[in-house]
Amino acid sequence: MPVLFTPPAPVSLPIQGSSQRFPVHRVYCIGRNYGDHVREMGGDVKRSSPVFFMKPADALWLDDAVPYPGATSDLHHEVEMVVALRHGGQEIAVADALACVYGYGVGLDLTRRDLQNLAKADGAPWDSAKGFDASAPISALTPASVCGHPQHATLALQVNGATRQQADIAQMIWALPEIIHELSKLWSLQPGDVIFTGTPAGVGPLLRGDRFHAALGDIATLEGYLV
Ligand code: MN
Repeated sequence: MPVLFTPPAPVSLPIQGSSQRFPVHRVYCIGRNYGDHVREMGGDVKRSSPVFFMKPADALWLDDAVPYPGATSDLHHEVEMVVALRHGGQEIAVADALACVYGYGVGLDLTRRDLQNLAKADGAPWDSAKGFDASAPISALTPASVCGHPQHATLALQVNGATRQQADIAQMIWALPEIIHELSKLWSLQPGDVIFTGTPAGVGPLLRGDRFHAALGDIATLEGYLV
């Protein structure tokens, strides 16, 4: 059946060492997943239920030049390990979760912190604070067949050469198998789903002209600048 207009091309991510690309279904994010970050945001570290939100798939951004968004004067960086799923399901057991993972990367959960603070104060949704255009710069993926499933890796972000965020992924409150388990209770996970796994302490502002360098150990790197 003919469609009314040409739909946008599907979003896909480059894969390190491969000419194939990873086709993206959805982008899930977990909040408050490192204790030191929870504390810097004024929260209590408790392990009740994880906080999940989504970004549109086309918020993923692969260009070095990252556009500074409108409607904010307080854009923040949140460096995060990113996980790509090749298998999905519902009610995925913790013990089965890593078998769903295709690969790993590093990304920035860019946040309009001023809009997020207003939303929190009003008990309103975070979409405009988190899900804006180009809000998720992301590296190429490294397949787990190459890097394994890292238990320890240094997640780090430098801005203009100075370290802003640095932590080991082992410090996550909800470990990756638990994140996948919890997500799969709320949504039917699909091949192509991408998960941002939360940020450690040190979040802060990005300005036009800032250069950033993010890394997940020797697994993935992401470099760019704000325009
Ligand atoms: Mn985040």
